[in-house]
Amino acid sequence: MKLWAGLIAVLLAACVAAEAPAAPDTPPQIVAEAPPVEATPEPVRAPAPTTLSIACAGAFTQGGIALCRTLPGAAVTVDGAEAGAADGDGWAVIGFTREHGASARVAASAQGATVAQSYEIAPREFDIHRVDGLPPQTVTPTDPAVLARIQREAVLKRAGWDSFAPIQGWLEGFIIPVEGGRVSGRWGNQRVLNGVPASPHFGYDIAAPAGTPIRAPAEGVITLAQPDMHYEGGLVFIDHGQGLITMYLHMSRIDVGVGDTVDQGQVIGAIGSSGRATGPHLCWRMKWRERQLDPSVAIEGLALARAELLSAR
Ligand SMILES: [Zn+2]
Repeated sequence: MKLWAGLIAVLLAACVAAEAPAAPDTPPQIVAEAPPVEATPEPVRAPAPTTLSIACAGAFTQGGIALCRTLPGAAVTVDGAEAGAADGDGWAVIGFTREHGASARVAASAQGATVAQSYEIAPREFDIHRVDGLPPQTVTPTDPAVLARIQREAVLKRAGWDSFAPIQGWLEGFIIPVEGGRVSGRWGNQRVLNGVPASPHFGYDIAAPAGTPIRAPAEGVITLAQPDMHYEGGLVFIDHGQGLITMYLHMSRIDVGVGDTVDQGQVIGAIGSSGRATGPHLCWRMKWRERQLDPSVAIEGLALARAELLSAR
């Protein structure tokens, strides 16, 4: 019997050097002080809408993510599917699957009224990725003990995904969790494992030497920290709020525990090749309300959303 279930693995006040017009009698001054500090200006935080409206910005592409601003507490849907409620500041996270069609309709409802906006979703092309030489029990498990273990671990993962932390980790934007790595696998590739077609690869793989630190891409709460999962090896989940959870696979070391709060840039552990891996790398994954998203696209998407919505008047 073929068992596919196992294959789901997967202000600083802006240092604006304002150029004041030079006073007529003042010669140009040569400033020989500290070099200018490159700082990202903190956008002016626009207040939450007080009437029902919706505006979204981000990466409108397959596997992409966007932020929406609407009336605090409004119920949000994407293509008619429930997507939770906007938080107390009117923010809602939304995402688009690998198979998403050419447009998305995002709606917000409150007090019997509904507003909606449609967004074009850019299609992507995905490669076919073949991996051979994986141990058969990690591709087509038949051993009852292995199957039982996979089932136990599925329960642990479910609990990790069911978390909904009331935080705004996504609001500060995401950073890449590994510095100096090499991208060794893109998100969304169709995989063929040991010659057998498998689920798409829902990870963004970054290869780096074992022991390289892995950093939290944004603030969050740890909802799973397991050193030895059958498929994923050392595995950590971070809940960033609004149903957005990131995952870190194949870790050689875990420095956090369930319930810990992490800040952006905090080391959560180290790169390894534990679980179903052919060499040391981080398989970085992202889920939003059961939908697999591309974390590499989220970095740009959240930055765009932040620039557009946070400073909007
Ligand atoms: Zn991967």
